[in-house]
Amino acid sequence: SGPEAARLVASRVLDVPDFPKPGVLFKDLMPLFADGKAFREVVDGIVAYHGRDGFDVVVGIEARGFVVAAAVAYAAGVGVVPVRKAGKLPRPAHSVSYALEYGEATLEVHEDAFTAGHRVLVVDDVLATGGTAEATLDLVERAGGTVTGFTVLLELGFLGARERLAPRPVHALLTV
Ligand code: AMP
Repeated sequence: SGPEAARLVASRVLDVPDFPKPGVLFKDLMPLFADGKAFREVVDGIVAYHGRDGFDVVVGIEARGFVVAAAVAYAAGVGVVPVRKAGKLPRPAHSVSYALEYGEATLEVHEDAFTAGHRVLVVDDVLATGGTAEATLDLVERAGGTVTGFTVLLELGFLGARERLAPRPVHALLTV
């Protein structure tokens, strides 16, 4: 259930101060991934929220999003498409660049990743400023997918990503 998934995320996230750089409080969800019962509950919760027939393919954002995406896709019996950092995909790809606090990042997806009209569920581990999510949703649409949902395990609510992504709906198992 929703409250149970939230409780599992809350009890299995480790706060790591000053990683990857000073001033950042890193939310490490690997203890959740490593706990088989908790991971299954959370993955099943995501599938239940969107409905087993509510999406045709799952997109995971490199790298921790891959862990969640593959499990959700398998549980729903659909495929998984990776959105990767620049230069990792072997075939022609769409690219979207976006601003980071310092500098810029680029995400890519294969040009033939989606079948026209396919409903795409996008998943990631943590939603912070929303820059990564915004770029990914744009990328999916540019590649011909239709974004039907966006779910994260943990949302840092005070950073305003939900407002940034509006009117696109954001589903978070836990918001802090
Ligand atoms: P953002 O684009 O600011 O929303 O950052 C989201 C991406 O960076 C996600 O792919 C997260 O895995 C990662 N990320 C950003 N901030 C954190 C954090 N405090 N703890 C863990 N991961 C984070």
